[in-house]
This record gives sequence, structure tokens and C-alpha cells, in this order.
Amino acid sequence: MAEAKIRVRIVTPTKELYNDEATMVIMRGSEGDLGVLKGHQPFITTLDYGVLKIKNGEEELVSTLFGGFVDVTPDLVTILTDSAEWLEDIDVQRAEEAKRRAEERLNSKDANIDFLRAELALKRANIRLNSKKY
Ligand code: ATP
Repeated sequence: MAEAKIRVRIVTPTKELYNDEATMVIMRGSEGDLGVLKGHQPFITTLDYGVLKIKNGEEELVSTLFGGFVDVTPDLVTILTDSAEWLEDIDVQRAEEAKRRAEERLNSKDANIDFLRAELALKRANIRLNSKKY
């Protein structure tokens, strides 16, 4: 029997990353990993920084996902996120440079540095660099 499918939309401020069916979507919620199948009870929650997986039959797509919200209904998963990219679109050199800049800021004694911003930038860079393992 064919696997039941749910529609998944992933939207960032600059693009629609995905608008298609999936047999399962797995993402990093603020309170832990979430796996959603067709027919899931409705809920809305916030998302953490992490990796998202979309299973569609034999196919598995992986992207980064940086915060935002997910709105789940039995037939549709809508993800609104600050930033997301497919693994093949990650520019490793850019992520390495972002990591170096963030580390320099975190090691600096300059009182004007926004440390929270630097910590978040470092987290994004590390997720981009480590996401190839998934
Ligand atoms: P940077 O300092 O290099 O801009 P950032 O973590 O501040 O990194 P974001 O604000 O998360 O960047 O993303 C801004 C835009 O740039 C988004 O569209 C995101 O997908 C894209 N982007 C950022 N870093 C990379 C990367 N290493 N490879 C591909 N796209 C990236």
C-alpha cells in the first residue's frame, strides 16, 4: 500500500525552500526533535537551530533550519523560518569565515561586542559545517 503523504511548505524571508509532499518530516523543535506524519494532531511550536529531514518514499532531503515556527495540521506542515538551505547549497568557505569572525568576537575584550549575536552566528556556522554528516 502507498505510504500516506502530508504536504510540507518551508518558507524563509527570501524563498520558498519546499512545497511538496512527504511521508515524514523531522525537525528540531525548541523542546526536542519532532517527527510528523500525515494525520498528526494540530499544534504550533517554535523551532530551534538544527537540521530538518524530509522523507518522501525512498528519497531523503536534508536542510539546515534556523529558528521560526511550525504549524502542523493533519494534512499540512507549514514551517516559517529565519533561514534554511539544502546541504548541497551550503558554501563551506563562507561558513568557515563566519565561524572565524564569530570566534574572534567571542574572544575579544571589546565591551561593544554583542556576545549573544556572536554566539548565534557561531552556532549557525557550526550547524552548516557539521550538517554534511546527516
Ligand atoms: P554570514 O555571516 O556568512 O552571512 P549568517 O549566519 O549571518 O552568515 P544568515 O543570516 O543565517 O547568515 O543567512 C543569510 C542568508 O545567507 C540566508 O539566505 C542563508 O541561507 C544564506 N547563507 C548564510 N550562510 C550560508 C552558507 N554558508 N552557505 C549558503 N548560504 C548561506
